[in-house]
Amino acid sequence: MKTLKCDLCEVSAEGATFEEWMEALHPHYEKTHAEVMNDLNHTKEDTEKWMIENNARFDAVSHVHKNSNILL
Ligand SMILES: [Zn+2]
Repeated sequence: MKTLKCDLCEVSAEGATFEEWMEALHPHYEKTHAEVMNDLNHTKEDTEKWMIENNARFDAVSHVHKNSNILL
C-alpha cells in the first residue's frame, strides 16, 4: 500500500496500485477540486498528461511497511 498526496493540495490517498490510488482520490477531487474536473477547457490530452505525471509520482513513492509509518 502506498500513500501519495493529491497533486493539488496536502490531502493524501492510499492505494496498492496507481489505479486504486486514483479511485481513492476521486471523491476528494470531486469535492475539493470540482472546478478542475469540470473545466471545459480540459482535454483528453490533459487527462493523459495528468495520468502520466501522477503515475510517475506514484512509482516514486516507497511502499509503506505494514504496521509502521517508516518509509522503506
Ligand atoms: Zn486535493
